[in-house]
Amino acid sequence: MMNFCNRCAGPLCYEIPEGDNRKRNVCQECGDIHYQNPKVIVGCIPVWQGKILLCRRNIEPKFGLWTLPAGFLEVGETMAEGALRETYEESLAEVELKELFGLYDIPHIGQVYSIYLARMTSEKFGITPESSEVRLFSPEDIPWDDIAFDVIKSALQEYIERS
Ligand code: ZN
Repeated sequence: MMNFCNRCAGPLCYEIPEGDNRKRNVCQECGDIHYQNPKVIVGCIPVWQGKILLCRRNIEPKFGLWTLPAGFLEVGETMAEGALRETYEESLAEVELKELFGLYDIPHIGQVYSIYLARMTSEKFGITPESSEVRLFSPEDIPWDDIAFDVIKSALQEYIERS
């Protein structure tokens, strides 16, 4: 929740602007309306010889649990560029993106996940500041009880069912 206007530093009030139908952060000084919209998260399912690359989170939330490489899309990059960047930042893996595997809405936290299918171009990967461990898992070895997010669990389950 924002408290001050990022245009004039005036105080914000959470109210329904005229002509709108939901509450927004409205600056009481300059009248600017600060819309908050869902964020896009981009990532991929990196596959190497039938195994899936997972990262153990070295950051909160869900510290210590496993996830697919994914993160917030930055302004100025395409979803594919963001997925490649996040994959490298979290796993040092270089991948070739295939099709968009799935889109997942998480409306209650304002997130949209877009997960690509990806082929690792080599067996090279490694730990990073964001991942304390990076490993290839056979489908039967996926640590289902230690997957960080439901959306990632769903994507992995769908991938395994489809392949
Ligand atoms: Zn303002």
